[in-house]
Amino acid sequence: MSPSAFQRNILAWFDQHGRKDLPWQKDLTPYRVWLSETMLQQTQVATVIPYFNAFIAKFPDIADLASAPVDEVLHLWSGLGYYARARNLHKTAQLIAEQGRFPDTLDELLELPGIGLSTAGAILSIAFNKSHPILDGNVKRVLARFRAVSGWPGNSAVNKELWALSAKLTPIARVANYTQAMMDLGATVCTRGKPACEACPLNAECLARRENNVSAYPTPKPAKTLPVKQLTLLLLSNADNCILLEKRPPTGIWGGLWSLPEFDSITEAHDWCLTRNIHIADQQILSTRRHTFSHYHLDYTPLLVRSDNPINFVMEADRTVWYKTGQLNKLGLAAPIKLLLQQSHTGIK
Ligand code: SF4
Repeated sequence: MSPSAFQRNILAWFDQHGRKDLPWQKDLTPYRVWLSETMLQQTQVATVIPYFNAFIAKFPDIADLASAPVDEVLHLWSGLGYYARARNLHKTAQLIAEQGRFPDTLDELLELPGIGLSTAGAILSIAFNKSHPILDGNVKRVLARFRAVSGWPGNSAVNKELWALSAKLTPIARVANYTQAMMDLGATVCTRGKPACEACPLNAECLARRENNVSAYPTPKPAKTLPVKQLTLLLLSNADNCILLEKRPPTGIWGGLWSLPEFDSITEAHDWCLTRNIHIADQQILSTRRHTFSHYHLDYTPLLVRSDNPINFVMEADRTVWYKTGQLNKLGLAAPIKLLLQQSHTGIK
């Protein structure tokens, strides 16, 4: 299939089946496209929609986002995961607000935190109608199957091959529709499991289908066993009905979010309380839970401690703070911590 035939098929399919009423497709602006594309990295459309609507309601334009405290941005992001995206979004909003215009070239966009080649391609094609390829997870899957490209796409040679293919197939005209169509095709037809090949505009010449071997593409990431890290999380409440929270460092896991003090063991948590004259009136050790990050499993054991002395200390340059349980809803909390607080009847919603 020639590139022009490929594009014709894709665009004809888009006209009939493509998504045209997603929230970011209305009042289309570079800001809305960038925000949606950032949210859509690693996350499905249905999950993104309520977050996108909440962000736009709170930060209708880039200046609103740039001037907001990062805690507020992280709070709205709570639950979407990969929090570096939210911190980069905030930094980038500030840089763009300073520049006074939304960048519209590849080089300028790639300078900005959180914008890689595929996100830049999506912004340029959808918001500015400039012909640039994309290669997000959906497009990788469609192209790897269509041309039976074997090898894990995380491998640089395979990645290069898929980028070259995407560039060759991307049209000059109607590029915004084409980009949207490729993402939609991957998300709704050429899905990870059970693709609907009979409804696909590429089925006549799809090599993976001809080989009757669709599930072999794209080649999965070579399996590796994730290491396991173990922690005790201390959920400490005092006689004033406050919970002790700790702010995470700005980078790394749950960067910039509020969390609970962490210890290597229950004994270490007890020793820590003792050295601070925290009298343990009551305690409960909950069963260990697992949260899996991309590069390790975190097995954490919640230790619930109620103290009956009115301790109220602030430490380490305000990184550790007592919060009234009623104020917790306003904070950016990592999803497992939020869930634990909800289950511990702290009044958080
Ligand atoms: S024919 Fe099937 S495997 Fe090939 S691109 Fe279409 S949906 Fe994907």
